[in-house]
Amino acid sequence: MPIDATQAYDDQNIFAKILRGEIPATRLYDDDYAIAFPDIAPQAPTHILVIPKGAYVSWDDFSARASDAEIAGFVRAVGTVARDAGLVAPGYRLLANTGHDSHQEVPHLHVHIFAGRALGPMLAR
Ligand code: 5GP
Repeated sequence: MPIDATQAYDDQNIFAKILRGEIPATRLYDDDYAIAFPDIAPQAPTHILVIPKGAYVSWDDFSARASDAEIAGFVRAVGTVARDAGLVAPGYRLLANTGHDSHQEVPHLHVHIFAGRALGPMLAR
């Protein structure tokens, strides 16, 4: 079910549990601001999720409340993960679903990195 992007942060969401180590995930990247791990149900040959370590529901929440250091750290982490995975030359797509109409399901900000094939048009037609 898609979430309401205006909801309060729920510290029982699945990505909060991954951050606390209560649910396993292969950490492809880990620094002071962000971690990255493979999506459990990949929709492209490469499908990686990057999440901030802070408690933010969505892109909206993060862009409104996060510190400049958190924002810089997270944006740099997304770029580093993609670069380290060798995705810059072939190209990749970033996606941050935000709220109901985008079908955001997990209420902790995450950026999807899709790559590994020609990804086609931006949205299904
Ligand atoms: P959203 O629709 O919220 O943008 O995307 C949520 C993503 O989280 C989905 O692509 C889904 O496959 C992924 N996901 C959900 N639960 C887990 C989990 O426990 N582990 C991992 N690695 N990915 C998950």
